[in-house]
Amino acid sequence: MLFEFTLSTPDEGLVDVTNEVRAAIRESGVNEGICVVFCPHTTAAITINENADPDVKTDFVEGMNNSFPDLTIFKHAEGNSDAHIKSSSVGASETVIIRGGKPLLGTWQGIYFCEFDGPRNRKFFVKIIGG
Ligand code: ZN
Repeated sequence: MLFEFTLSTPDEGLVDVTNEVRAAIRESGVNEGICVVFCPHTTAAITINENADPDVKTDFVEGMNNSFPDLTIFKHAEGNSDAHIKSSSVGASETVIIRGGKPLLGTWQGIYFCEFDGPRNRKFFVKIIGG
């Protein structure tokens, strides 16, 4: 079963989509299986990270900007090569195990849509496989 979600993103940062993934799994009726969360954009990504301290989200953005700065040597005419590099570094998808009709996540884990070149209207997909 495939679910599509839309979201409006900030300039940059992490948007918690854990509840959307939980809802998709619930609606699928799958108890044991696999869930793929996929981002179809080249300047955004999907990751799993801490959902307790909100400073982790802002530190993530600062860390990405320091690790992948917007360099004057970049040639890409759109001017967002740093966002493309961040997207590939984090990755377009995450795979999550479904156990007991819920995503198997650690206590402090959440699933995040990462925006690196917003604000934009974005979408992501959740594919659920199992019985
Ligand atoms: Zn571009």
